[in-house]
Amino acid sequence: MFHGLCAFSLLHCGRGEEKVRVIRETCSDGEMIQDIDFIVFDADDTLWDCQGHFEVVMQRLYDELLPWTGTREAAASELYATERKNMRLLGFGVKAFTLSMLETAMRVSQGQMSANTLSDILRQCYTLLEFPCTPLPEVKETLWQLTQQGRRMVLFTKGELLDQQHKLERSGLGRYFEHVEITSDKREADFRLLARKLGAAPRSLVMVGNSLKSDMAPALAAGWRAVYIPFHVTWQLERHEHFEHERLTEISHFAQLLSVL
Ligand SMILES: [Mg+2]
Repeated sequence: MFHGLCAFSLLHCGRGEEKVRVIRETCSDGEMIQDIDFIVFDADDTLWDCQGHFEVVMQRLYDELLPWTGTREAAASELYATERKNMRLLGFGVKAFTLSMLETAMRVSQGQMSANTLSDILRQCYTLLEFPCTPLPEVKETLWQLTQQGRRMVLFTKGELLDQQHKLERSGLGRYFEHVEITSDKREADFRLLARKLGAAPRSLVMVGNSLKSDMAPALAAGWRAVYIPFHVTWQLERHEHFEHERLTEISHFAQLLSVL
């Protein structure tokens, strides 16, 4: 079933300072999702925690930059500025993040941060290539049940090819997906291209993910349906104002997929 959207509430997002309006899904007599060919899943922060691991490493940089920035918030703004600047050429992933971390450290400290501290930050960034991709609560059981129902499932994630492949391997969830698509970005054109690859009509595709910016908005623009599962922390570059759409629904925990699809 595809439930309608109604009833507004407030959700603390990101580090807790930003309030965004969200739409709570209720069991109304809304539109039904029928004739679904593929359920397409985002990976990071939808199937397993990713941003939480990055946040830990970022906090270390913020601590080391305090002598120059005075506050962690100011240090976070500096890193954000670097990541935004580098996004066009470096894209997403651990390598881009690591370069932005070191660049921020050197720029903000005006070259005064010690080599030992920089080495330690580098070492911490490397841990992001190996953190355990333990499936989030209800994920494994829900994917198994969807498989038992004969649902066809696809993984669609952006980032670095090798890193994303390794994360999927570490998660143990690869068996549930008949196709894995790893791209440098997830824009409307990427969703249209994936639909063509799958040979599926846009309306027969459902995108399930945690990002309004990278999962919901471009999927809806490409004519897909979309199910939004908010994660407790959102990367600053992924933050997006909430919006309404007739093909968008929101659930609060993963197993609810079984009742909305
Ligand atoms: Mg995600």
